[in-house]
Amino acid sequence: MRVSVDNMVFCLRFVFFCLFFSVLSCEAFCADLLLDPGHSPKKPGTTSCSGIPEYQFNDQLVQTIVRFLGERHLGCDVTRRPQEDLGLKERGAKARGHKWFLSIHHDAVQPVYLERINGQLCSRKARGYSLFVSQKNPHFETSLLYARVLGELLISMGFQPSTHHGEAIQGENRPLLDARLGIYQYDNLVVLKTSEAPAVLLEAAVIVHPDEERLARHPGFQKAIAEAVAQTLRFVQNHSF
Ligand SMILES: [Zn+2]
Repeated sequence: MRVSVDNMVFCLRFVFFCLFFSVLSCEAFCADLLLDPGHSPKKPGTTSCSGIPEYQFNDQLVQTIVRFLGERHLGCDVTRRPQEDLGLKERGAKARGHKWFLSIHHDAVQPVYLERINGQLCSRKARGYSLFVSQKNPHFETSLLYARVLGELLISMGFQPSTHHGEAIQGENRPLLDARLGIYQYDNLVVLKTSEAPAVLLEAAVIVHPDEERLARHPGFQKAIAEAVAQTLRFVQNHSF
């Protein structure tokens, strides 16, 4: 059979086209973990007790985790770069092809608990981390398993969970799936329910609390979170379903 040059060129173009889109959709080449720094400059999230927007805490912690994982040859991808804006559904869509989606946030309390401390709106109502999973995620049971592993690691490192999202008031009232580990069910969290990978959202600290905000900015705190994420990622890699 004679193959014309035109046919060969067409075939080569087709192969490059397929490779290009497989890279874009991250089906074959993406890392096991997709880290999502919550919010963005246009939608900054909550404001800390000293007036810093939440997304800056999220960006800082994600950068620390990325560096920490890289030093241990544990790769990961991120949904957005620092200062970049990205919609919630786009974040979930990027989870395709990954084994674990982890969204990083910093927490607040309901406005009724805020008071002026040194001129800023702060609260001493709650402190500690929280973990969220959605039953609408197609891998709910696996998401819950990964949240339990991360929670156990955080507890073993001396972190304390916060139970304030379970309080029976407007804006909270989230079902606590595991009070000891601080795991809540929050079905309609968009990034969790739209993620095609098992998905967990971590509220690392309550930054409207003045002491906890100081803690969240400490490099030792950020490295401890990174260590817990690294160990959970090793579990994910050894127990993927
Ligand atoms: Zn947030």
